[in-house]
Amino acid sequence: MKVTEHIENAQGKTLFSFEIIPPQKGKSIQELYDNIDPLMEFKPPFIDVTTSREEYIYVDKGNGLLEKKLTRMRPGTLGICASIKHKYNVDTVPHVLCGGFTKEETEYLLVDCHYLGIDNVMALRGDAMKDEQSFIPKEGGNDFATDLVHQINQLNQGKYLHNVMDIDNKANFCIGVAGYPEKHLESPSLQSDLKRLKEKVDSGADYVVTQMFFDNAKYFEFVAKAREIGITVPIIPGIKPIAVKRHLQILPQIFRIDLPEDLINAIEKCKTSADVRQVGVEWSIQQSLELKNAGVPVLHYYSMGKSENIRQIAKAIF
Ligand code: FAD
Repeated sequence: MKVTEHIENAQGKTLFSFEIIPPQKGKSIQELYDNIDPLMEFKPPFIDVTTSREEYIYVDKGNGLLEKKLTRMRPGTLGICASIKHKYNVDTVPHVLCGGFTKEETEYLLVDCHYLGIDNVMALRGDAMKDEQSFIPKEGGNDFATDLVHQINQLNQGKYLHNVMDIDNKANFCIGVAGYPEKHLESPSLQSDLKRLKEKVDSGADYVVTQMFFDNAKYFEFVAKAREIGITVPIIPGIKPIAVKRHLQILPQIFRIDLPEDLINAIEKCKTSADVRQVGVEWSIQQSLELKNAGVPVLHYYSMGKSENIRQIAKAIF
């Protein structure tokens, strides 16, 4: 079922969902299941599965030493979607990227999604690779998420890249896109980024999931501004609990987001890693309660493959 249908069927009740990352190459899927199992009691109608263009693996140098090596593309997104859908009977949302794919490869991926009965895809540009100054699309690939949304929307209308005849089974993907309450890091201003978001929606996106934020005021302002410029689709807030002290440095650095002073102070005062996790959980609970009271359609959690803190939050909210 489409994410938008789940939202409609909920009739104003806030739903619970989360995002997972496929296991690293060579790792068992069991660890993923062990982290999903405790979250199933909160009845997520859909689970997102990310796509990574790069991953570090350890290779044996042959002399007993291991070398850390950057490789292209972590496998598993589609396989994990299929296995979760099968095991838990829940909808899955694969993240589909512009980066690293030609349009033709994207079309093949989408056709596979369709055969697997996947009804939703999250259309994203992807980030620049670690060895690139800025994002470079693959030759013959999509430049921006808007172009990818356009391609998916064309496919929904039965328009393949090549003129395929006698189509009797069209795809009908519900398309999610990313939104940034504190603007995307490359964008000159929030207003300009919002215009880009409007282009994605006008190209066929059905809903938006936001980047993580730690101050709900940023989300509420973002939604108000989006509505002002005519973006009417659901805007799902993305929530990430701080789990380690290092997040104070790396989250603002990677995602160009602000952390509220109160949160920073509370984390800095923590003596143990368990205290840090607890502060992170409590902050997310407060955020989630306020967002739920404001009637957000879904609370979407970035689990980063670990479920215990998400379970604690969900227990307090759902
Ligand atoms: P776009 O919407 O294409 O925007 C990218 C930048 O270009 C923005 O600054 C925008 O303002 C600008 N722009 C857009 N259109 C134009 C245009 N026509 N001309 C000039 N500028 C333009 N990354 C992954 O690698 N894998 C994932 O699984 C993943 N999941 C994510 C899930 C969510 C909910 C979010 C919020 C992000 C996720 N990302 C993921 C990160 C995402 O790929 C990066 O933030 C990326 O840098 C931008 O992706 P986008 O789809 O927002 O890009």
